[in-house]
Amino acid sequence: MTSRFEPRLHVATRDELAGRVIAITGAGSGIGRAVALACAAHGAEVVLLGRTVTKLEKVYDEIIAAGGVEPVIAPLDLEKASAREYDAIAEAIGTRYGRLDGLLHNAGLLGDLSPIEHYDVPLWTRVMHVNVTAAFALTQVLLPLLRAAPDASVLFTSSSVGRRGRAYWGAYAVSKFAVEGLAQVLADELSGTTRVRVNSINPGGTRTAMRRAAYPAEVAESAPLPETITAAYVCLLGPGARGMSGQTVDAQAPA
Ligand code: NAP
Repeated sequence: MTSRFEPRLHVATRDELAGRVIAITGAGSGIGRAVALACAAHGAEVVLLGRTVTKLEKVYDEIIAAGGVEPVIAPLDLEKASAREYDAIAEAIGTRYGRLDGLLHNAGLLGDLSPIEHYDVPLWTRVMHVNVTAAFALTQVLLPLLRAAPDASVLFTSSSVGRRGRAYWGAYAVSKFAVEGLAQVLADELSGTTRVRVNSINPGGTRTAMRRAAYPAEVAESAPLPETITAAYVCLLGPGARGMSGQTVDAQAPA
């Protein structure tokens, strides 16, 4: 009998990510915050990217209080950032570390839950920009630093509605399909010629602000806390998934 490799069941060693520099978007809250804390707890030097500096500062303090390596705060509004701001992030990471070992595209915008027929066009553009175009642009500007790392991992955040379309999920669902496509194209381009691996992850229903907005009538406790779903992220961003690329993974067991 062959056993399937399940990153969500990965048990990381204490120092599994030691010496790795890992950048995380949307690191100030929800799943991004939890993954940032988990990466730091396993020894990573974390670059906290996000738009709300006060939230990033709280995560910074939590990492320091837990005895983690000092993280870096990198403010970046993915909806509004200019090319110059992207370049500045790459320059700052390059100057400080000279490479990037992990990049988690976690930030996301839900938009409206409404029929395609009535979906607001400007909102559609914003959702596609934050969820897809910004992730593409950030990856592009950070690729030289990812190439400079011995075992770099790029991880995109998908969703179950990015694998099978569902009524009323509009731009969000379409953006997650695009994210899956972006991950596949990039993984194929980089395979063989670089040591950069590229995968996508579906966190599954998780107790965050986005989940509350999408399911306002749900009993909050029915979805797991972000802290409980980080194993697959640590695995994929670190040596636990070395050699794995072009895959899409679930952070939780299927419901
Ligand atoms: P969340 O708590 O709402 O977090 C979303 C994060 O994205 C926040 O840190 C937010 O920053 C950041 N963000 C939004 N717009 C941004 C912008 N313009 N620039 C920079 N950062 C921005 O939601 P979450 O549930 O943790 O979501 C994390 C990822 O998981 C998303 O990609 C989401 O699509 C995906 N996901 C979540 C679930 C779930 O059940 N929770 C299920 C499937 C997929 P601020 O805090 O500053 O607003």
